[in-house]
Amino acid sequence: MNTPSNNPCNNCGICCLAFALPPFDANELVKASDELIQQVDAYARSARYRKSNPCLWLDLDSGKCKHHAARPVLCRWFEPGCQACNELRIKAGLPSLQVKQLK
Ligand code: SF4
Ligand code: SF4
Repeated sequence: MNTPSNNPCNNCGICCLAFALPPFDANELVKASDELIQQVDAYARSARYRKSNPCLWLDLDSGKCKHHAARPVLCRWFEPGCQACNELRIKAGLPSLQVKQLK
């Protein structure tokens, strides 16, 4: 797992384009706060959700997740520099990430 000091993610945000909403599973939603559930529910009903993505929580200016600490498990599993990350980046015309090996 990448720590903040060796995280190679350069916040291209491409991995967050596949979702319109944070991809919480049912168990995570049960544990989520009422505020989060209301936010996601309101967004799911909105015209913007019906038309497009990226994920509601993606900050388009910074390419960062607006609620990184509260992001879903699925997002935590997605390692910067993994095969899927690099395949998405190459498809978008970006260079693949070289992940430094820990000593
Ligand atoms: S990391 Fe954040 S912005 Fe990206 S898909 Fe997950 S919840 Fe959405
Ligand atoms: S695709 Fe890779 S480099 Fe881009 S934001 Fe996602 S994890 Fe980071």
